[in-house]
Amino acid sequence: MPSIHSIFRDIKALTDSQIEELFNTIGEIISLRTMTGSLYNDSREQRFSKGVACLHCGSMNVIKHGKKNDVQRFRCKDCERTFNDRTMTPLANSHVSLEQWIDYAKCMVMGLSIRKSAKICEVSVKTSFYMRHRLLDAVRNFQGVGEVSGIVEMDETFLPESFKGNHKKSGFIMPRKSRKRGKQIKKRGISNEQVCMATAIDREGNIIFEMTNKGRIKTADLERLYKGRLDPNALICTDSHKSYITFAKGNVAEHIRIASGKHKNGVYHISHVNSLHSKFKKWIDRFNGVATKYLPNYLHWFKWLQTFIDEKEIAKARQLLVNSNTFKTDICINQYRMRGIVFS
Ligand SMILES: [Zn+2]
Repeated sequence: MPSIHSIFRDIKALTDSQIEELFNTIGEIISLRTMTGSLYNDSREQRFSKGVACLHCGSMNVIKHGKKNDVQRFRCKDCERTFNDRTMTPLANSHVSLEQWIDYAKCMVMGLSIRKSAKICEVSVKTSFYMRHRLLDAVRNFQGVGEVSGIVEMDETFLPESFKGNHKKSGFIMPRKSRKRGKQIKKRGISNEQVCMATAIDREGNIIFEMTNKGRIKTADLERLYKGRLDPNALICTDSHKSYITFAKGNVAEHIRIASGKHKNGVYHISHVNSLHSKFKKWIDRFNGVATKYLPNYLHWFKWLQTFIDEKEIAKARQLLVNSNTFKTDICINQYRMRGIVFS
């Protein structure tokens, strides 16, 4: 290890641009250290904001049960089981260090692929896949589907169904001949080979963005997704698709339709939802086709990035880890492989 004096000597010999680089690196090291220290505290506070409840049975009849590696353990007096701050969080029983998780969260804020993130964080591609989906499951849990009110723009967007990530080894049979990756479907218009993502966005910036069905959206799909999540006093703006007309009756106070080819009707428009969709298409493009079964996680990833759009990258990464540590998740890697397509 070099002495601090020889480091100072070396620094004096650096060029201006090297000094600037050094300055930025030191800044990063400091913020990483501060972050590591406070991360567990914040996660714990958010997780146990209503008091410490047993993670196994939910009982509040819980006592402190010693510390191990500086992690507080608890024992439930009802079910007699023990748990700690990290039990059932993405960081629990992880062989990956906290620093690697932080780097990984940063990669996710930047929207890097599984392979690129693996390289940066020095983990295998398999581990990278696992880290990604553990974090995203937790983010989904944390965000929930959401709620919208006031003036609400609604529309839907489509992506070709993808069976990427399903392997013959696990007994998967392709329902149709496989397409070359990224190749567009030939059929014109919307077919059952496309998955539909219903979207609602209000003027407060609340977003509902969920994969609902294959092909054209039906009134039943809208009912299932928006019932209880859309304020009955809301005013909705949609295009002239007829499913919305049927849905609007009885579910909202007012329905403004934008005629096809038009962008607005008086002061009402659907440009927020349209711009969200074009942003999403541009963002998801970098992944070269996401397997449909993982698409809901990617939608929540995108939505999470929109919610924290104004924060600095490092703060976003930190927030991602705090949020994802708040809720319990106990899925293991083989369960991801077995996961099927689930519509909201
Ligand atoms: Zn218990």
